[in-house]
Amino acid sequence: MIKRNKIKDLLKSTEFGKEVIVMGWVKTFRNNQFIALNDGSSLSNLQVVVDFENTSGDILKKISTGAAVKAIGTLVESVGKGQTVEVKAKTVEILGESDAEKYPLQPKKHSLEFLREKAHLRFRTTTFNAVFKVRHALAFAIHQFFNERGFTYLHTPIITASDAEGAGEMFRVTTLELGNPPRDEAGNINFKEDFFGKSTNLTVSGQLEGELGAMALGEIYTFGPTFRAENSNTTRHLAEFWMIEPEVAFADLEDNMNLAEDMLKYVIKYALDNCAEEIELLNSRLLDEEKNKAQKDRSELSLIEKLNFCLDNDFERITYTEAIEILKRSKPNQKKQFNYLIDEWGADLQSEHERYLVEKHFKKPVILTNYPAEIKSFYMRQDDNCAEGKQTVSAMDILFPGIGEIVGGSQREERLERLEARMDEIGIPKDELYWYLDTRRFGTAPHAGFGLGFERLVVFVTGMTNIRDVIPFPRYPKNAEF
Ligand code: ATP
Ligand code: MN
Repeated sequence: MIKRNKIKDLLKSTEFGKEVIVMGWVKTFRNNQFIALNDGSSLSNLQVVVDFENTSGDILKKISTGAAVKAIGTLVESVGKGQTVEVKAKTVEILGESDAEKYPLQPKKHSLEFLREKAHLRFRTTTFNAVFKVRHALAFAIHQFFNERGFTYLHTPIITASDAEGAGEMFRVTTLELGNPPRDEAGNINFKEDFFGKSTNLTVSGQLEGELGAMALGEIYTFGPTFRAENSNTTRHLAEFWMIEPEVAFADLEDNMNLAEDMLKYVIKYALDNCAEEIELLNSRLLDEEKNKAQKDRSELSLIEKLNFCLDNDFERITYTEAIEILKRSKPNQKKQFNYLIDEWGADLQSEHERYLVEKHFKKPVILTNYPAEIKSFYMRQDDNCAEGKQTVSAMDILFPGIGEIVGGSQREERLERLEARMDEIGIPKDELYWYLDTRRFGTAPHAGFGLGFERLVVFVTGMTNIRDVIPFPRYPKNAEF
């Protein structure tokens, strides 16, 4: 067994004079004497003072940035600035050398773009240590939130044969030979000979299967990877991302909004309470980054203020129709500054519109409801008493500052005839989805759910600006490195 003390514990300790063993990676080595050592347990480094007179020149030479070392010594009160404890080393052992000339991370500030290309090593930077600690805390808090409320964590399939939702945006899963696939009489690829005996893809959402669970277990959630082959090279889209999808029986649109708002506030509070040091660091990072921006592009609130603001205020709830009125009258629309001008009811909202509503008009998170049926999915509940040509559905999107849509959800259409009619209208094959329709055939009931993009939440809480910087190994068009 390897015995060691974690740096996180030592930095808080007052057991001066105690013998300790520390292991970690060298951040810097100054004056042949002072190692700034980090083992990942804390954002702060531990200062290890090397007894350079009694340490061989060979070892001193190998204490370089990136090297893994083991030091045995005593914990002492530090006289130096910036730390309260340090370790006075009796011996230093090199566990793994690191050629300072070749090690990609120099003891200086690197750009996020540069670090993205070194994603295999970027965990060793303080910023990414903080980001991934916060990501972990948020994932944990999500499970805790649902567990406390009696939800069942349901694992929906990653490989799926239903492509009803994301036609055209899916990644195919096959074992057929690409160059020479089997063909049927008509000359089409014969998926009957494929591994599953039919054409299969990676899932774009666990919702349809989640609904099946909710219609028996009552309250379920999924939290798993989702895949979308959309060619969107944005700071908000990944080809592989994680989604949280609760689904609740005997719930309507309002219950759904309440659940989503409660959940978001719960997990943001959890991160603030449990990752204070990390969020503090990310707060300063963002302030630094914003210094390079023009005054008008800087955010009015710091990261911490923004998170607290989100906790302290009710999300604004308005209908799509109200939002369109606000957007039509808005300055950027009148002055033709939007890339897509809003001229009539029915228009799909772009992220520029979502961000205008959140950042300029309401200045807080907004829940938009009751969207036109035409721009939403077939399974959303059709609103009653709609004006001619203005059929809406009980959808809800939650819009966050700096991000736009973070949650998309709805009350589901539980009435079999209405659902089938809508599927016919837009050409979704009912026979392929017989299993989905069975929940409406046998004991249907009102139910609702939503999908939260996990990485968009992590972007919000960490104040990082690019979604590629909050997932360990981002997948996006032309990139599947590492
Ligand atoms: P958008 O319009 O921003 O592309 P969407 O309408 O396609 O989002 P949904 O299908 O409702 O999104 O998915 C639910 C949630 O999943 C979204 O609210 C968002 O948080 C997240 N999400 C969707 N697509 C991506 C993606 N490519 N990468 C990361 N997160 C995503
Ligand atoms: Mn999308």
